[in-house]
Amino acid sequence: MVRNVVRHYANGRFGTSRPKSAPRQVAAEAIAPVCKSANTRSAKTNEVRQLDDASESNPKIKAWLARHQKFRAFVENDGKVHHVPDASGERTLQQLLQLVRAELGQSNAQPISLVDFSQLRIAAVKRNTQSSTRNDLVEMVLREAIAKDVSDVYVTIHHDRCRVHFRTHGVRYLFSELAGDDGREMVRAIWALAPHGQFEQTRPTDTAFDFAGLRVRANSLPDTRGNSVVLRLRDPNWLPTLDALGYDAQQLALFDELKAFPGGLTVISGETNSGKSTTLTAMMSAMTASSMVIEVADPIEMEFEDVTHVEIDNFAEDADETFRDILGGLVRQNPDALFIGEIRDAKSAEAAVNMALQGKRVWGSIHSQSRVATLSRLQHLGIDAELLAQPGFLNGVINQSLVPVVCQSCSLTQVGDDVQTTSALRAKYRSADLRFHNPDGCPQCVRGIRGQSVVAEVMVVGGESRDDMRRHIRAGDYAAIAARLKGEKLRSKAAHAADKIRAGQLDPFLAEQVIGRIAPEDARGEDA
Ligand SMILES: [Zn+2]
Repeated sequence: MVRNVVRHYANGRFGTSRPKSAPRQVAAEAIAPVCKSANTRSAKTNEVRQLDDASESNPKIKAWLARHQKFRAFVENDGKVHHVPDASGERTLQQLLQLVRAELGQSNAQPISLVDFSQLRIAAVKRNTQSSTRNDLVEMVLREAIAKDVSDVYVTIHHDRCRVHFRTHGVRYLFSELAGDDGREMVRAIWALAPHGQFEQTRPTDTAFDFAGLRVRANSLPDTRGNSVVLRLRDPNWLPTLDALGYDAQQLALFDELKAFPGGLTVISGETNSGKSTTLTAMMSAMTASSMVIEVADPIEMEFEDVTHVEIDNFAEDADETFRDILGGLVRQNPDALFIGEIRDAKSAEAAVNMALQGKRVWGSIHSQSRVATLSRLQHLGIDAELLAQPGFLNGVINQSLVPVVCQSCSLTQVGDDVQTTSALRAKYRSADLRFHNPDGCPQCVRGIRGQSVVAEVMVVGGESRDDMRRHIRAGDYAAIAARLKGEKLRSKAAHAADKIRAGQLDPFLAEQVIGRIAPEDARGEDA
């Protein structure tokens, strides 16, 4: 259907009739000069090119593009489709579609979305290569991902259908759709980029390789209808600091306190995609100078000169045996600090306990929603309340979430045109600087989002002055624990988020979507 539309353009119908109504006129004028000035002719129709390809060869197009920076796509008289691969172009494409519908009637017009354009591109790539088509697809997807600052690529194959989603700044969106066979070929080609290991359709498989300076980790999981494949793209040279991740001054001081305990367990908790492993990496990089540090994790995300990194493969057949061997080795290495990655089962919990009881400083991450809920999660993994309350065992718990940061270039000062809601929120947060994300976005962002920031809460359990805290933990008295935290002014995650909302960095609605309702007493801020 898309090709139908393109062929009609190729017949020249687009340029000859000029629509009268205002929005159509805007689009028609935007496209017409390009159609005239484009001087490239080709026997092929439906060829899809990026606008910068076209502008390289034609100074008139280049000049026109400089004047129409928001414009994302056009169709030449001979049927060539040019576009800028950018999610924010969606709206312009919709205008183009409206125009096509008006010109050709509903039945000839299917939505021209970025997905359609990327499929046209894939078709063009396929036609233009005699061999190694599969690698071209992988190359195209990965290059687009890098251009869009993508952190995760999801390839979902269900029967004869394959969908490719991207995640940028925490926002997940559809990039393209393929036939199921093309998807399977593409995934096999992804695994072929790694130095060893083969894609296996029927069992969980991991692999890793370097692409254009990035480290790519791929994981495939068979499901009832096909395969779910996730690629994580990371810059191996990006070294985060806790400050840059979004922790505030009070929390940084608490990190220093936790770091100073001579031994014991500290846990970074959070939900999936909350940035736990990045925080652990930042901690590790801050400790290497003075300590002998060993990391045992699956996978190792980043390597440091002074750290011994041991990678374990949880999918390997002899995983349990290997893990026991590694633990024996750890004791003999006598590290000052052990980073154990995710504590996900009784096996890794036992390892953390053993090392902490031997007086080592142990840092690990765990899946949980809040600092207090982390205590029951640890008990669920076999670390009982008696042990958690034992002096010198548990130093503290950090719980964190990642909240999308509002793009300052296109953010809104009101909730749509809802004056009442806006002023109610300004009163709740006692701030006139609130900002709301703009779902239409701009060239600087993805749907109004530009980056993510940590919101967190810390609970310190260790230390001589906290006997009462440990007593509450032994008794499982969560209300008393909460009161104790309040008494020590260890602020909640909601209060931390509210600071950033008041400053216009976070959208109050998006923040509540991630961390739940923010109560008025948390929203008001410190001096309320
Ligand atoms: Zn923006």
